[in-house]
Amino acid sequence: MSINLKNLISVFNAEWTGSDTDTFIDHVSIDSRSLQNGSQTLFIALSGVNNDAHLYISELIEKGVQNFVVQYIPENVKGKANFLVVKNTLKALQELAAYYRDLFDIPVIGLTGSNGKTIVKEWLNFLLSPDYNIIRSPKSYNSQVGVPLSVIAINEKHNLGIFEAGISTVNEMVNLEKIIKPSIGVLTSIGSAHDEGFENAEQKIKEKLQLFKKSKVIVYQKNKLVDQCLADFCAEYPLPERTLFSWSFTDDLASVYILKKETQDDITTIQYQYNDEIFNLEIPFSDSASIENTISCLLVLLYFKYDFEVIQSRVKLLYPVEMRLEVKNGIHNCSLIDDSYSSDFQSLKIALDFLESQKKNASKTVILSDIFQSGFSNEELYSKVSQLISDNKIHRVIGIGPTISSFKDKFANSTMFQNTADFINEIERFDFNNETILIKGARSFQFEEIVSLLEEKTHETVLEINLDAITHNFNYFKSKLKPDVKMMVMVKAFGYGNGGLEIAKLLEHHKVNYLGVAFADEGISLKNGGIKLPIMVLNPESTSFPSIIQYQLEPEIYSLKGLNAFLKIAREKNLKDYPIHIKMDTGMHRLGFENNTIDELIATLKGNSTVRVQSILSHLATSDDPQYFDFVRQQIALFEKLSSKLMTELNINPIRHTLNTSGISNFPDAQYNMVRLGIGLYGVSNDPAEQKYLENVGTLKSIISQVRTIPAGDSVGYGRRFMADRETKIATIPIGYADGIARLWGNEVGYVTIKNQKAKIVGSVCMDMLMVNVSHIDCKEGDSVIIFGESPTVIEMAAALKTIPYEIMTSISQRVKRVFFR
Ligand SMILES: *Cc1c(COP(=O)(O)O)cnc(C)c1O
Repeated sequence: MSINLKNLISVFNAEWTGSDTDTFIDHVSIDSRSLQNGSQTLFIALSGVNNDAHLYISELIEKGVQNFVVQYIPENVKGKANFLVVKNTLKALQELAAYYRDLFDIPVIGLTGSNGKTIVKEWLNFLLSPDYNIIRSPKSYNSQVGVPLSVIAINEKHNLGIFEAGISTVNEMVNLEKIIKPSIGVLTSIGSAHDEGFENAEQKIKEKLQLFKKSKVIVYQKNKLVDQCLADFCAEYPLPERTLFSWSFTDDLASVYILKKETQDDITTIQYQYNDEIFNLEIPFSDSASIENTISCLLVLLYFKYDFEVIQSRVKLLYPVEMRLEVKNGIHNCSLIDDSYSSDFQSLKIALDFLESQKKNASKTVILSDIFQSGFSNEELYSKVSQLISDNKIHRVIGIGPTISSFKDKFANSTMFQNTADFINEIERFDFNNETILIKGARSFQFEEIVSLLEEKTHETVLEINLDAITHNFNYFKSKLKPDVKMMVMVKAFGYGNGGLEIAKLLEHHKVNYLGVAFADEGISLKNGGIKLPIMVLNPESTSFPSIIQYQLEPEIYSLKGLNAFLKIAREKNLKDYPIHIKMDTGMHRLGFENNTIDELIATLKGNSTVRVQSILSHLATSDDPQYFDFVRQQIALFEKLSSKLMTELNINPIRHTLNTSGISNFPDAQYNMVRLGIGLYGVSNDPAEQKYLENVGTLKSIISQVRTIPAGDSVGYGRRFMADRETKIATIPIGYADGIARLWGNEVGYVTIKNQKAKIVGSVCMDMLMVNVSHIDCKEGDSVIIFGESPTVIEMAAALKTIPYEIMTSISQRVKRVFFR
């Protein structure tokens, strides 16, 4: 893109301050961490309840960014850059995209629906790419922010766009419609996803249809409700030549009527009638979601007037879509970012940003295949790629493919190979160690083989952590805070079992104010991992005081003995104003100063300049239990009294905090100046009504090691505690109580999920294995198994095991690898 800033002033109706309006921008960014930000970047400072990008502007100016769209100009950067001041920066981003979209007159496919948007988009891209230069949304960029970012990547060479639009409530589609303006509309499957945001299914469908105001054709699965909504929609937004192009398994009035569907060996043949002719199409899937998504694609191909033979030859090659970027542990202490399924310019930009945000090692390597469908000439494309690689400070590049090889000159420190096999032959000589490696290639290059060679071999059980879900949950709780209330996040016990350092890094980016850990060791490993945030240690032992000071951790002080011990060491080291946190016992009776020790506490602290009371805190015992809410109120009242006394007598004004997760939800009046978020960040609420607003963070996964069928009368496992009363198919899974799976969860109390179906645990859970009944499931060795996550949830496990989700989460052994993804 190349846009003159001058034009944008009127697009945004912005107020301009700065020197130079005659600047061209070629890049729009909302991510302050991106190394792609530079002098030609227009940085749009989004400002949510969660994370205010205005805070990063001075850093960005230092890095050379000159042009900003802002809602206000922060004091410290006045006069230092060009600013376009607008009322709402998100709206400006959307206006920019809508303006930019209008510069291109190309056909655009717009996809919406509850499920399948991203898959249908990826497949349409695959099916149409032999004939078009396609621009599409990267990954699932379908939100109020993702859609504009996708659309501003269109360039002159593209002759087809495919964009998806996702909404969660009413009045959102209007904005996205203006940006995508699809000429071809596709409504994918309408399920129950995001139902909370709508009054009923009709309202949800009508909202989604808003995307198709300018669409000349609308592809959808025919049913009564959708037909009805479409009739209303077409009456409200008439277009002279609009085609409703429908399909159905049951209604022969549909444009494409599916007469038959038969599955054999993972291949499904559908027989359909179209324009009075009958066709048999083979689809390489057996599950109904994939079949429906393929049919949506079929209709688009029919609309584009493809012959049946071409359709069949391309549909046969459809593949499961991997939609996310995964971080994996590699050999010799490397980390791998596995993006071995796509290679286009836009997704390379995203992957490089992700690489930067996830890098654990100083050194960065990229393994990259030829890039397809950029819309640029090869010369232009590889110049741009080389620029991107050098902006991102990549240390070495391994290029694979005839085209990228021919541009070797453009890449510093690069090695090129004609094909994947040649590289694999020589993989040893690269001596990969202590580096973060992005592996990014088009499907045809089969980079999954590279990933599997570079991946650390461990047993197959992993706990997958969804970093986006953590962000979502964080934002949810943050939105409940009054302005200026700070947030401490508890990352004790390895972030409640989910991974301490990775989560701390994410929280640091979200500008959390404090982290809380239980022991000094935990804080030290965070500091060693590069965390700069202040860290409070809840339970500092006196022996750890020297290292607490060495690593600048902040101790919670809960007794006179502890205070005096800390003061002694602090004085020896000549410290001044060292931050400490004073804990009050207001009824929990765990740690803290009680009422009768306050006077002595005050006497010790009065006039003391060695330490400074950074905060005063207390902990609630029953903030999750309505039956004891009166008790909470007493605790809060006592906290108010004790902390006020301390503040008056010492003449100090520290941070005060007493709410944990349930406290944030149930006692909004006691937020004081800070709250301490714990379990909620990890996706668990103690209140079922609130649970639906949180996203699942951890999914514990394993695989099937072996499958066997046993006859009636045989038993399974130690003690023969499962007796088969009929022929039974049994699968063995390599996870046991040593990994943290409670034995009480065995013997048909608990279950795992395989291929979206429940499989009961039969017999006793062993140390490293458990067995499940899979008689009703079509599965084989190597298939993936979900131990917990969406189903079962840790909440339902905890209920069955008569414990709390905290215990389930923190029990997962450290031998289980944690894998982080977005
Ligand atoms: C663990 C802990 C929290 C967080 O509690 P959640 O219920 O997980 O939100 C807050 N404060 C203290 C002192 C804690 O020990």
